Amino acid sequence: MSASDFQPVIGLEVHAQLLTRSKIFCSCSTEFGAPPNHHTCPVCLGLPGVLPVLNRRVVEMAVLTGLALGCEIQRRSVWSRKNYFYPDLPKGYQITQYDQPICEQGRLLIDGEGGERAIRIRRVHMEEDAGKSVHDPVRGISLVDLNRAGVPLLEIVSEPDLRSPEEAAEYMRSLRDLLVYLGVNDGNLEEGSLRCDANVSVMPKGSAQLGTRTELKNLNSYRFLQKAIELEIARQVLVLESGGKVEQETRLFDAERGETRSMRSKEEAHDYRYFPEPDLPPLVLDEGLVEAQAKALPELPRAKLERFRTQYGLPAYDAKLLTSERPLADYFEAVAAGYRDYKKLSNWFLGELLRLLKEQPTPIAALKIGPGHFAALLSSVDRGEISAGAGKEVLAEMFRTGAAPQTVIAERGLAQVSDQSAIEALVDEVLAKNPSEAEKYRAGKRQVFGFFVGQVMKAMKGKANPQVVNELLRKKLGG
Ligand code: ADP
Ligand code: MG
Ligand code: ZN
Repeated sequence: MSASDFQPVIGLEVHAQLLTRSKIFCSCSTEFGAPPNHHTCPVCLGLPGVLPVLNRRVVEMAVLTGLALGCEIQRRSVWSRKNYFYPDLPKGYQITQYDQPICEQGRLLIDGEGGERAIRIRRVHMEEDAGKSVHDPVRGISLVDLNRAGVPLLEIVSEPDLRSPEEAAEYMRSLRDLLVYLGVNDGNLEEGSLRCDANVSVMPKGSAQLGTRTELKNLNSYRFLQKAIELEIARQVLVLESGGKVEQETRLFDAERGETRSMRSKEEAHDYRYFPEPDLPPLVLDEGLVEAQAKALPELPRAKLERFRTQYGLPAYDAKLLTSERPLADYFEAVAAGYRDYKKLSNWFLGELLRLLKEQPTPIAALKIGPGHFAALLSSVDRGEISAGAGKEVLAEMFRTGAAPQTVIAERGLAQVSDQSAIEALVDEVLAKNPSEAEKYRAGKRQVFGFFVGQVMKAMKGKANPQVVNELLRKKLGG
């Protein structure tokens, strides 16, 4: 058997830090970047004799996410203790949800290999994050920072429905976009506020039975996620082809060495001695909370994408890019309210605006170009008041200063001359100066036309409306 005889199977477990102001079971701040152990209290330090109190915002965000993923929202769910020992886990257990999570059986639509695919979501549950161990190689010691201990997490577990590394990365991107749309997560893989473990197995094509899986960790970018899965598939195929058996284990992705390597044999559920959390009653949702979240559900990325295609007549590619971030989509619609050539507008967004944003990363909310100004600029270009090239220069200046397009055009003397008589005078002058070239043109040497355009443009310092110049030259040269 060769690699092409095997079918990869992938399921993702995603942890998303919720954007609440306080932690899940105490009122400590979730602010990032504070001095170590600054945001701690007896509850999140795991001191004896204190009790957790559930943060209602966490439940609201879990329900909102569950609804967006089409899950069944469980009116009663249960907290469990997951026991393990690690220095960044002061209580010696994590409060999580286990056999009765808050959301079950959803799905996420993604652009898969053969078109749209529905990836089933097995469960979404709430839990607390652990602290962080900070290793100091110089002093040869490890330190513990518990600011993150008790920060609320949502764990979103897919069914093993993904069939290639690309699909896994696409699922991750779609899920990220969704969580950011909902305002429950900041979508930052690199900084770890959104984390992903990938479960990977291979099976002979056509088989009904899934192969043994390994779990990959340390996948903190889409590129790493895809790369690690590719490497792991190749490794498993090699093991099977040489008659070996894939061991169920947890493997760490090493980006520098371009390999996954064994970290530990896979723990089983019984290793964690799960049991119901005695300090928290089962969570019973009141109907009002669920209804309020259903009302709060915004238009989701895929629905927005579809609407951008139909309402603005945009190609799928444009619609997808424009709707990938809610503020960008909102901004597009604000400009579109004042400018009707939507495809042209989309070209300016995907070309010029995204380029400026890349050169100088700026949140859309802090963008200085008012939507009305953006629309006015494009209308100026359409009316021939300035050239498209000058329009780009003006947009860049508007991006820097927030000035109105008319101001920039005037200040920089970019206004294009469309005035027939002014251009005509110059056309006559150029023709008079170059009688032999004009003769050549009339004799059939059409390339000379470009020479005349160049001469007129030069005389007008590039500001003549090229369309008017072309028309006048054609009229005067005849033919
Ligand atoms: P655990 O609780 O031990 O982490 P689960 O059965 O809950 O294991 O599955 C965890 C993840 O592994 C899920 O995302 C699931 O889709 C995925 N998964 C399960 N079996 C396989 C398999 N054979 N190949 C790939 N992924 C799998
Ligand atoms: Mg797991
Ligand atoms: Zn606390």
